[in-house]
Amino acid sequence: AQVPPDQDGDECLPQYRHLLSPDLLAGQVAFITGGGSGIGFRIAEIFMRHGCRTVIASRNLQRVSEASKKLVAATGQQCLALSMDVRQPQTIAAAVDEALKEFKRIDILINGAAGNFLCPASALSFNAFKTVMDIDTLGTFNTSKVVFEKYFRDHGGVIVNITATLSYRGQALQVHAGAAKAAIDAMTRHLAVEWGPNKIRVNSLAPGPISGTEGFRRLGGKVAEKSDQFSLIPLQRAGNKTEIAHSTLYLASPLSSYVTGTTLVVDGGSWLTSPNSFSALMGIASSSAK
Ligand code: NAP
Repeated sequence: AQVPPDQDGDECLPQYRHLLSPDLLAGQVAFITGGGSGIGFRIAEIFMRHGCRTVIASRNLQRVSEASKKLVAATGQQCLALSMDVRQPQTIAAAVDEALKEFKRIDILINGAAGNFLCPASALSFNAFKTVMDIDTLGTFNTSKVVFEKYFRDHGGVIVNITATLSYRGQALQVHAGAAKAAIDAMTRHLAVEWGPNKIRVNSLAPGPISGTEGFRRLGGKVAEKSDQFSLIPLQRAGNKTEIAHSTLYLASPLSSYVTGTTLVVDGGSWLTSPNSFSALMGIASSSAK
């Protein structure tokens, strides 16, 4: 199978070949938390290349503003950059109001904001565990609830939660993020059930190791790459941001109109075979901490 090209860092693709109709999301608006960097940035770009207008929102206004300029220049679509903290519902409410004032609609919510780092449970502070739960799990609930109340309840919509495969086998040094993302996968099913009658679809997308991201750098991707550990992954490589964006596009678009309450794992099969050695990961943690 062909691998779609990606670009390192938070830069748009120099070229893009459409595999799907360029007007797949024409007229739609996507609200993307964490859209200023990494996977969220590429999701915004790929959506915009399919006719979607976007709102990218995170804490750092400068980060999202610079990202928005690049996205608009590369795609010719509109992109609104907003500052909000997913831990503070009043900042989410203000951002969603602003988005609705600008675009009059929201069709898609991507919950991508998250924080993560490698740390053994024994060294994890109470506060560090809580912070990850606050951003990932509570942040996803807070944003989903605000968008539901302000728009989706009456108009329907699509939610895609970006989760992870960490909890499937109890990944070492990841109790905080694994627990937080597992709770989001549960939330996906609960909200799919409760909000289905409002014509809202809710799904999770769980990426494996994805190159060119902060997550990849912090979680030892580079070290794993150098030591040839990716040959253990069934597809023999890390994934890229474009691949995650394409799978998110599927879940966000009418291509998946009868899909709700599921988790789509996009990891080249890696959770089935990747090593889960506590001591080896401790080595990665100390060498990638710089
Ligand atoms: P990233 O670039 O660090 O993206 C995280 C984003 O979340 C940033 O743009 C950050 O922006 C935002 N954010 C953090 N705290 C926030 C808060 N309190 N309120 C609002 N926004 C906040 O990381 P990434 O590696 O691309 O990851 C993107 C998503 O994919 C995450 O959900 C991650 O867990 C998931 N994932 C990634 C991988 C991987 O290999 N990279 C693997 C599995 C899952 P600000 O700092 O401006 O707030």
